[in-house]
Amino acid sequence: GANTADVEVHPIIDSTNSELMRRIQAKTTLESGTVIVAEMQQAGRGRRGRVWQSPFGANLYYSYFWRLDDGLQAAMGVSIAVGLAVYDAIKTLYQVDVELKWPNDIYINKQKLAGVLVELDGQPQGPCQLVIGIGINLQMPESFSQHIDQAWTDLNQHTQKLDKNQLVASLTHHLEQRLAQYRQTGLQAMYKQWNSLNAFAGEYVELNTGHRSWRGICEGIDAQGGIRIRQDGEVKSYYGGEVSLRKA
Ligand code: ATP
Repeated sequence: GANTADVEVHPIIDSTNSELMRRIQAKTTLESGTVIVAEMQQAGRGRRGRVWQSPFGANLYYSYFWRLDDGLQAAMGVSIAVGLAVYDAIKTLYQVDVELKWPNDIYINKQKLAGVLVELDGQPQGPCQLVIGIGINLQMPESFSQHIDQAWTDLNQHTQKLDKNQLVASLTHHLEQRLAQYRQTGLQAMYKQWNSLNAFAGEYVELNTGHRSWRGICEGIDAQGGIRIRQDGEVKSYYGGEVSLRKA
């Protein structure tokens, strides 16, 4: 798209997100739309210090740099918009339908295909800089599967037409569209579509912060990106990046 600055390809890196975060901290000039991809990550990360398995090979390890003028508040729902961009790219290229798990995971038939990790730098009342990390399994080497402690899948099990360059181009295009829409109207035009792709719609789930947990029926997200849980006939929304959702 018009805003795409560069795609930088690294054979090996600790983490594509860490590389962009380092450049932000070093005050390096970065254009919005800068993309870094790597063939493997030595320290791929999930949320809360968890590991993202990143063996050498066909998988995609991708990070996108984005500036947002109106602060951290506005950044809250970005993971939701990014999940939809991943859906767009995979649906368009391969006619494969993915499901979304709040707040930031992408599944096929309840098996994890991809993860999103949004990190940011900035003040609540000012411009902020976001690093949007996306890991998508394309072809997971057999020897690595044992390191993933939940059900997972890769795109190779669902399509024969894989081309990583094409996926990077399509992902970047759809990301730019979704982020532009997010900048203008937040999740207003997106949350209903997200709900139609919710992997846990109508299911009994458990929300966990590490300190507390809640159980209830998953009713999908609200226009702010919070997850709506029905407990004792009452629906409450939960927000915050440190919350995990599981099947109860
Ligand atoms: P949450 O709902 O809190 O995000 P999560 O367990 O899915 O839960 P993430 O931080 O998104 O957490 O991702 C890290 C987890 O994903 C790991 O603990 C592991 O279970 C799983 N995982 C790690 N590498 C991969 C991979 N390449 N493909 C699929 N799943 C992976």
